[in-house]
Amino acid sequence: VDYYLQNIKEKANLNAFLEIFEEEAYAQADAVDQKLANGTAGKLAGMVIGIKDVLAYEGHALQASSQILNGFKSLYTATAVQRLLAEDAIIIGRQNCDEFAMGASNENSSFGNVLNADDTSRVPGGSSGGSAVAVQADLCLASIGSDTGGSVRQPASFCGVVGFKPTYSRISRYGLIAYASSFDQIGLITKNVEDAALLLEVIAGKDDYDSTVSQREVPAYSELLSTDKTYKIGYIRDCFESEGLDAEVKESILGVKDMLKEAGHTVEGVDFPYLDYMVPTYYILTTAEASSNLGRYDGVKYGFRSGNVTDLTSLYKKTRSEGFGAEVQRRIMLGTFVLSADYYDAYYTKAQKVRRLIKEKTEELLQQYDFLILPTAPTTAFRIGENSENPLAMYLADIFTVQASLAGVPAISIPVGRDAKGLSIGLQLMTRSFEDSQLFAFSNYIL
Ligand code: GLN
Repeated sequence: VDYYLQNIKEKANLNAFLEIFEEEAYAQADAVDQKLANGTAGKLAGMVIGIKDVLAYEGHALQASSQILNGFKSLYTATAVQRLLAEDAIIIGRQNCDEFAMGASNENSSFGNVLNADDTSRVPGGSSGGSAVAVQADLCLASIGSDTGGSVRQPASFCGVVGFKPTYSRISRYGLIAYASSFDQIGLITKNVEDAALLLEVIAGKDDYDSTVSQREVPAYSELLSTDKTYKIGYIRDCFESEGLDAEVKESILGVKDMLKEAGHTVEGVDFPYLDYMVPTYYILTTAEASSNLGRYDGVKYGFRSGNVTDLTSLYKKTRSEGFGAEVQRRIMLGTFVLSADYYDAYYTKAQKVRRLIKEKTEELLQQYDFLILPTAPTTAFRIGENSENPLAMYLADIFTVQASLAGVPAISIPVGRDAKGLSIGLQLMTRSFEDSQLFAFSNYIL
């Protein structure tokens, strides 16, 4: 705890944490010491963990990096956080992120940018930017983030760490602030695959407070980390031919592909005909869900209320106009539009159908191949400000991560190289639903 607190203070300029739980962290550390002495310590004894500002922790502020939740404190603790504490992890603080987890660069936080520790003129990725930098810069051992369309994988790729999104429904979402519920998953950012496996083992599994969580048994992921099998691997050819793909990223990922082939695995190019539809489908569906989920922030129930109101309608309007940032407002409007009576079928229903096609095609490929590999992101970390005036360019940063989210399959980003500027490159792997353990074992083998 001393070590991480020292680092957090020295590297405060990175802006990764919104709040540090210093006294509590020391109290938890003392309790862990005692348990270690009498042999009752849990599986995560002493692991120092940071949590993204979208996870409820009773008695602590929770804001999704938004002004609309200013002053709000959690009334209960998220199941995932509760399970960490029950196994004696130490929660060190609350991490900066894009407002309501909407973004790919952490530039949408109302608490300012997070800086990439490899080059502070560059973004850390997003939306879990603070969580990724915290692990990158050694401000905590691991972070718990959320991934709706890439928000743990893409920042992990930009920061040279491991980012894991489990199978949809593997981890309870109780206590996770909702963005787009049919996509949202709690995800993990760690230095290595072992830590991700251990954390998943602790936080996954059935929960009376989330009716959508899977009832399946949770394997001992951390004991299933080695493999000597030869696998069938598909690489999605269309991704490697896509226009925006950086040449160095391409070369690096193709290098891993060749290495796997030389090691005796079957590696084949596969076609995925829906690449162009991925980002539009994702944004229609997630903005629709967001417009509904964010309806609750009306100035009556939570956090901030505009001081300047005359009646109920003006209370709603002013609170939401002043409390939400520009990107969140854009998405609420877009989502409201695609759900409106005249356009519902043309956009929302159509996007649901395309999601089904993407899911079925992905699953079909994963019947033929154990893993699909592709880059996590089309570029390495871009400069702060480079995409912030152009939402479409920013949305395209998600082109490779949204497939796993649309399909609900597990995916991981692992660091496999650096470009000439020294910026990290991430390889993404996907596998069949509920085979998260095979994803860990194979990633561990590659690293
Ligand atoms: N960049 C994507 C978006 O802005 C992903 C965000 C996420 O996974 N929370 O929606």
